Amino acid sequence: MRRAGRRFGWAAWLMVGAGLVVLIVGVYFLLPWLRTGGARMLRLRQWFSDPTAHPEWSIRAGERCGEVPFLLPTDGYVGFTWGDSFRPGHSHQGIDIFGGVEAGLTPVVAAYSGYLTRQPEWKSSLIMRVPSDPLAPGRQIWTYYTHLADIGGNSYISPLFPPGTREQYVEAGTFLGYQGNYSGDPNNPTGVHLHFSIVLDDGQGSFRNELRIANTLDPSPYLGLPLNASTDPGALAVCGQ
Ligand SMILES: [Zn+2]
Repeated sequence: MRRAGRRFGWAAWLMVGAGLVVLIVGVYFLLPWLRTGGARMLRLRQWFSDPTAHPEWSIRAGERCGEVPFLLPTDGYVGFTWGDSFRPGHSHQGIDIFGGVEAGLTPVVAAYSGYLTRQPEWKSSLIMRVPSDPLAPGRQIWTYYTHLADIGGNSYISPLFPPGTREQYVEAGTFLGYQGNYSGDPNNPTGVHLHFSIVLDDGQGSFRNELRIANTLDPSPYLGLPLNASTDPGALAVCGQ
């Protein structure tokens, strides 16, 4: 009996240990998701229900928030920031700005001067090469804009930048197109927004894979807004905060 009791003791401890590991792993993956699910998520729902009720939550295209290099690229509420998590284990590599109106109405402008490329197959995306990072001179970076198409992939990008455009010089503040809701899946469109990110160079004159947060930069110091989900969780990203 004593032996059996001791064996049961070991099994119990083993189960407690396994439970703890599951708990720690769960918290590790869930925490960023839970943080996002807080203040900003609540505000996003309120913004969607009536954007006109909260003009103070909106940023404005072409505005500059203090002594920073970039202009704000569009109008709307910054619903998701850099490092936010939409599902456990995922980190958002840019910022999402929700205009609060239907697709094809909210203008998007260039945040910084650069050389615009639109690959032949890109319906909703643009990327601009910035030869010298204004915050790290000498380093080449890229600014990326996406979701500029409707649910069916009809582009809202300015006709000045047709598919296949390469290395076209564009000044900061230039109109690029309108916010859209294209996701690639007509049955599951995104909310109408602009996704904007700053992408690292691959060292061979091209951009790295934008989908990985490690290949992108925290846009906060470029735009003068609290856009880092780790250091500014739940912050309202508007000028002068
Ligand atoms: Zn996004």
